[in-house]
Amino acid sequence: MRTPLIAGNWKMHKMLAEARELVAGIAKGIQNIEGVEVLICPPTQHLFPMAKAVAGTRIMLGAQNAHEEDQGAFTGEVSVPMLKETGCTHVIIGHSERRHLFDEGSVRLGKKVRAVVKAGLFVVYCVGETLEDREADRTHEVVERQLDEGIGTDVPADRLIVAYEPVWAIGTGKTATPQQAQEVHALVRAKLAAIYDQATADRTRILYGGSVKPGNAADLAAQPDIDGALVGGACLVADDFVAIMAAASSVASGAC
Ligand code: PEP
Repeated sequence: MRTPLIAGNWKMHKMLAEARELVAGIAKGIQNIEGVEVLICPPTQHLFPMAKAVAGTRIMLGAQNAHEEDQGAFTGEVSVPMLKETGCTHVIIGHSERRHLFDEGSVRLGKKVRAVVKAGLFVVYCVGETLEDREADRTHEVVERQLDEGIGTDVPADRLIVAYEPVWAIGTGKTATPQQAQEVHALVRAKLAAIYDQATADRTRILYGGSVKPGNAADLAAQPDIDGALVGGACLVADDFVAIMAAASSVASGAC
């Protein structure tokens, strides 16, 4: 049984007062929602105050990126031990914006994944094809390659969460259909079985990301290999984020 995880990637949004308001809204909204884990990933600058804001709630705290080294002369960067000190339990690695806007390549991402798990944190490792890849029928090849590059048996699977995020669906309002998403999620699970084993693959959560909204969350969550969502735009509005959680919770409890 995989507990659904709904994760919010705030990207570079929210001033501190707005961040506090958002967390308060989420904390209030999730009080009656059961069977779903909740993670917020605010900008690094807000991690310490957000750790205070989520204290006493079941909202978990994550970071959006980390450097692969623990310390050193890396101006502007933040290490995993530093993130851990803020109270972070999760770190997103390999988000498409890091891959494409900041040129983070496979070797680097593999090191980052290992830095996260070495510190005992959970890694949310993102994979996904561009529109060009999809149109050229290279989705499977690209996603399998990204998994090979980022993870391996030296990465403890009990610290691993995979997020499938088709690049063409991120922030565009275009969502993969539940069938398109399920097809790739099944591929990811098969690949995890090849890297680890079937039982491990069956235990590992695979989130879908790409324009998840309250209106499409239930259909996506109903797919057998979709174990939650990595949400961008809709996580910035407490009611929308909570509605996505409520949808995942209803699906998980068999209510819809
Ligand atoms: C994301 O940034 O990971 C994401 C999926 O964004 P959005 O939900 O806005 O498409």
